[in-house]
Amino acid sequence: MSKTPITVAYGDGIGPEIMAAVLRILQAGGAQIAPEVIEIGESVYLRGHSSGIEDTAWDSLRRTKVFLKSPITTPQGGGYKSLNVTVRKTLGLYANVRPVQSYEPFVTTKHKSIDLTIVRENEEDLYAGIEHQQTEEVVQCLKLISKPGTERIVRYALEFARRNGRRKVTCITKDNIMKLTDGLFHRMFNEIGEEYPELVKEHMIVDIGAARLAEMPERFDVILAPNLYGDILSDIAAEVAGSVGLAGSANVGDEVAMFEAVHGSAPDIAGKGLANPSGLLQGAILMLVHIGQPEVAAKIKNAWLRTLEDGIHTGDIYDERVSERKVGTAEFADAVIARLGQEPQRLRPAKFGQPSQEPMVPLMVRNQNPAKKELVGIDVFFNWRGTKPEELAALLKPLGTDRLELKLITNRGVKVWPGGFPETFRTDHWRGRFMAVEGQTPDHHAIVALLGKVAQAGMDFIKTEHLYNFDGKPGYSLGQGQ
Ligand code: NAD
Repeated sequence: MSKTPITVAYGDGIGPEIMAAVLRILQAGGAQIAPEVIEIGESVYLRGHSSGIEDTAWDSLRRTKVFLKSPITTPQGGGYKSLNVTVRKTLGLYANVRPVQSYEPFVTTKHKSIDLTIVRENEEDLYAGIEHQQTEEVVQCLKLISKPGTERIVRYALEFARRNGRRKVTCITKDNIMKLTDGLFHRMFNEIGEEYPELVKEHMIVDIGAARLAEMPERFDVILAPNLYGDILSDIAAEVAGSVGLAGSANVGDEVAMFEAVHGSAPDIAGKGLANPSGLLQGAILMLVHIGQPEVAAKIKNAWLRTLEDGIHTGDIYDERVSERKVGTAEFADAVIARLGQEPQRLRPAKFGQPSQEPMVPLMVRNQNPAKKELVGIDVFFNWRGTKPEELAALLKPLGTDRLELKLITNRGVKVWPGGFPETFRTDHWRGRFMAVEGQTPDHHAIVALLGKVAQAGMDFIKTEHLYNFDGKPGYSLGQGQ
């Protein structure tokens, strides 16, 4: 078998130690890989690259399309962009896949039989990183959920479940509150889910979903979630399995995939030879399956399981009730290598199939019949330091035109005019909703005319949002209490 080129980064903190251990295990296990080493992280940041990665490193990643990455340290202080987010977004790694297992009784956990995988959307949601300070008192972060982005991750999760013989997919959102954004995610899950009749499909609101994951993780199989919930749920799952240090993850795109440990660079134990290389090893095992070496992946995983069973544990999971010997990073790697070819005796042995040649998700094509979009109004946001909504209404009503009229004022989304409650708390951030006058169809000129009057009146407007109907249905939320 010819060797598959992979890009490797040793990272920071414990990174170099655990990467050396993992590469040694991969080599001893017979992995056919040709590592190409790149430098990323702290040293690159401190040389003045605000994203922690240089052009030559991108060249390697785009050539090999496979990245085994140790954790890195993001230096303290402003101006440094998260390398992880940069790599994920630049290379379009839209799916974050994190398998979580418990290894009871060999690793102490309250839950005996956890075997689940979290599929998290990796590029959108509140992580789009679009934030603004709008007034003295109010800042905002935009939550962006796209149809193609959602379709891709929903298909990925369902396809993942099908190809891996999983039974159930649980979609987690907060669509009782965020009806448009999370509502889209949930709706696409329902729609695309119909193409997978053999799978049990369920939906949970994130609050109860997270609570159940913490209390009854055994009941979950594949969990699908938008970015932020997925991030939080991933750590809950890894923690209740007793094993943040044992979990690895894959970040997968159409072209490139990145494999890593879940934990960070652990500067507190760096250079001491104490770190557990298991998280990165799990990432490397996912990588071997991805590059078509599933037998090697299973051989290494089984040797690793056997090492855990034999009680050879690094300090982070050492428990004198179940452990036999406390070892450091290199000694742990030696123990795994010594068990290559053996299978676990009590834990379920690992078995992986060849990855399918079929792509997980078909190439997204733009909808050729987009919904009919009709402008029906505009929300104008104001920085206004008054307190009485009626006074603001008196200022805004005359700004209406023959095509757009003031219908509503809200503060932090709650209706305060007409007919608000004095109890409602108010900030300096107000929204005036101007809707089409009966029988009129506003256009961009009507919007500009309205904003011209707003500017003439000297009102401090800080942003606007157009209000559209799509196929006759409102594409905007109502004010709370409207
Ligand atoms: P961390 O995961 O590095 O460490 C948390 C705790 O877990 C520490 O006590 C550490 O000693 C322990 N730990 C972590 N991995 C271990 C291992 N393999 N073996 C034994 N013990 C282990 O989290 P942190 O301290 O919050 O972050 C440290 C640095 O890592 C920060 O600069 C952060 O930005 C970075 N980080 C990087 C990544 C990444 O590159 N993917 C992820 C998370 C954090």
